[in-house]
Amino acid sequence: MISYGRQSINKKDIESVIKVLKSDYLTQGPNVEKFERELVEFTSSKYAVAVNSGTSALHIACLAIGLKKNDYLWTSAISFVSSANCGLFCGAKIELIDIEKDSANIDLDLLEQKLTEAKKNKKLPKVIIPVHMSGQSVNMIKLKKLSIKYKFKIIEDASHALGSIYKKKPVGCGKYSDICVFSFHPVKSITTGEGGAALTNKKEIFKKLREFRTHGIISNVELCKKGRKVLPWYYEQVDLGYNYRMSDISAALGISQLKRVDEFIKKRKLIAEKYFKALNGLPLKMTSQEQIAYSSNHLYIIRINKTMTKKTNLDLYNLFLKHQIKLNLHYIPIYRHPYYKKMKFRVKDYPNSESYYSEALSLPIYCSLSVKEQDKVISIIKNFF
Ligand SMILES: *Cc1c(COP(=O)(O)O)cnc(C)c1O
Repeated sequence: MISYGRQSINKKDIESVIKVLKSDYLTQGPNVEKFERELVEFTSSKYAVAVNSGTSALHIACLAIGLKKNDYLWTSAISFVSSANCGLFCGAKIELIDIEKDSANIDLDLLEQKLTEAKKNKKLPKVIIPVHMSGQSVNMIKLKKLSIKYKFKIIEDASHALGSIYKKKPVGCGKYSDICVFSFHPVKSITTGEGGAALTNKKEIFKKLREFRTHGIISNVELCKKGRKVLPWYYEQVDLGYNYRMSDISAALGISQLKRVDEFIKKRKLIAEKYFKALNGLPLKMTSQEQIAYSSNHLYIIRINKTMTKKTNLDLYNLFLKHQIKLNLHYIPIYRHPYYKKMKFRVKDYPNSESYYSEALSLPIYCSLSVKEQDKVISIIKNFF
């Protein structure tokens, strides 16, 4: 069965994991530290905190910027549920913003309009979480300007975007946000099995991220660094944190995978370009070549152009299934989930997300997708139309 995404694990990846299993540290140890240093280097940010999932990274990011009960967190209506759930974990209220007409990213013009209204009603958000869908960066310069005017924090959900470039800098560099979050789930740019990381350029935020990763505890080493004279076994809990640590086993896999990330991104780019060239001209809306050039190309999303055909994304999905190819739609709009339906969201407020949801489908894109397999995908689509 071919699917929309999968990991690529080679012999070196496997050997690096086995090496840890024979070592002293299984839980967070030297490999986690090394992985964090290499993430910092790869993204040219200052600090990284590796955790056990992208969702955990989003959660500690919200805690680190001080998101509290009844604060507002705004994010995009089209994302994985974690982008909004992390706010609910903190007791915050969620506002979902519609996406742009021609992309799957948050609509910044609409956002600006909503911020003006929110200012009048004294309901401004404490934090906004932009999602770089499929690896295409949100217009961070514009968002950053808005964040200064309306005084909100920015946490980038860059789960898709490790390896993406924005304004000549790697996504994750921290120039336009307070914190940037990555996921290392097997379908993402690189994998640690399960895993994630929160990156920042701000030392105070970094310290908080680290505390919330480990129970809200400050270690003996840290206390001594602060000049506190404490007993050698002493540590203290100063906040209510979690056990979100990444294991050294996962980190070793991450280190090995990060060595291959350029190769992964290059392969994804080739696949995306081939789809673009082969499918251009069919009744589809597609990612432009310009967008492909700067994106990690985590997903290759096509959208059925409904003004040109009566066929639907479900028809195409079912046709693929007959050929043993299981695709996916990224994502079901968050407000459509039963849990979120309870919270006053109205479908009619999301015209662009609704069209997207009725048009989109993610094609297979991953490092080990063969030429033959991609040719099969292309010919199925051509025959479909
Ligand atoms: C994968 C993903 C997450 C969550 O990451 P996990 O590591 O699975 O917890 C969050 N947001 C987006 C947009 C994602 O794609």
